[in-house]
Amino acid sequence: MPKIIYLDNNATTKLDPRVLEAMMPFLTESYANAASTHLFGVKTHEAVKNARAQVANLIGCETSEIIFTSSATEAINLAIKGVAETYKDKGKHIVTVATEHPAVLDTCRYLEGKGFEITYLPVQSDGLLDLDVVRASVREDTILVSVMLVNNEIGVLQPIKEIAEIAHSRGTFFMTDGTQAVGKIPINVSELGIDLMSFSGHKFYGPKGIGALYVRCKRPNKVKLNPIIHGGGHEKGLRSGTLNVPGIVGLGKAAEIAKQEMASGAKRIGELRNYLETELLKIEHTFLNGHPTKRLYNVSNICLKGADADAIMVGLKGIMVSNGSACSSTKIEPSHVLKAVGRSDEEAYSSIRFSLGRFNTKIEIDIVIQETKKVVESLRLLDMYSTLRVQGK
Ligand code: PLP
Repeated sequence: MPKIIYLDNNATTKLDPRVLEAMMPFLTESYANAASTHLFGVKTHEAVKNARAQVANLIGCETSEIIFTSSATEAINLAIKGVAETYKDKGKHIVTVATEHPAVLDTCRYLEGKGFEITYLPVQSDGLLDLDVVRASVREDTILVSVMLVNNEIGVLQPIKEIAEIAHSRGTFFMTDGTQAVGKIPINVSELGIDLMSFSGHKFYGPKGIGALYVRCKRPNKVKLNPIIHGGGHEKGLRSGTLNVPGIVGLGKAAEIAKQEMASGAKRIGELRNYLETELLKIEHTFLNGHPTKRLYNVSNICLKGADADAIMVGLKGIMVSNGSACSSTKIEPSHVLKAVGRSDEEAYSSIRFSLGRFNTKIEIDIVIQETKKVVESLRLLDMYSTLRVQGK
């Protein structure tokens, strides 16, 4: 059995060796500041320019519309706080969704403390938004509608083109957190009507510590943002700080590979995921969390009733998956996403997210199926024996 079987690709992905290779010169001999005007700096400046083009090409925008950040979290903060600060005289209402990533939810909560009003839209039991609910939520004073493209826990794909149309018809900007979607599915920001989109290198085989924000520069929805980080005026004044050249080059290379290999990767990973899911759902008292088809091809979030997810994870030893709980600083809580789709605490605590990626193989999936069946069966047996013991039988 391989030492580690990694099925937690929605948390982060392994750096593709081709990406590392592209980054290496900029970690070693080509270390100049991309802003320096000497010959040495010109080389790194050119590398950043090339990476920006690779990233822009992946999502169908102009190079001037890409702002490099340190992460998707920073890109989200820049987008939401930037819009709030710039357009606060127009209105102080923002619409988002209960199942967003904490980077969005906590940024919105912060703004609530600054006098903004936030509507957190509920989702249906399959995790998808009802468009009538979206329509009814947008008001005269709404300045931003922010809906994630793919959910990180259950993988559902929101109808963002339709949601963008609703936002635009009311004169409001549309933002999407594309962190789980960019590099995995084709995205054209113009066709989808996206005005702002956050994403991160480490979710699609790029390095950690590099993210980006797409900011629409073209009319009719040209977005103006106030920066949240001030300083030397890098990235059009929107994100000061010396550019992370190796990270940017890595993001660019990851984007180039994603563009080339997306279709074949989706087919292969999708087949593995479907095989895993079909087999695991044959275990008694299991069900899928999230819409069965309007979902990304790499993820399967399964509730295995009567077996605690933490205990399953311990039992799975060298197999890395994720559970249905989220740690806050003080306690472990059931996932807000699973709660939002109507799961009980017990069901959330019995749910496991299997997220596949580029480097998984059929042999690995066979092992995961076999081990999960074994572990769940023994946990349920243990549970039955202890119940009988308590009852004195
Ligand atoms: N948004 C979504 C949907 C995510 O899945 C994540 C990471 O888990 C983030 C935002 C934050 O990404 P980063 O780690 O790059 O800040």
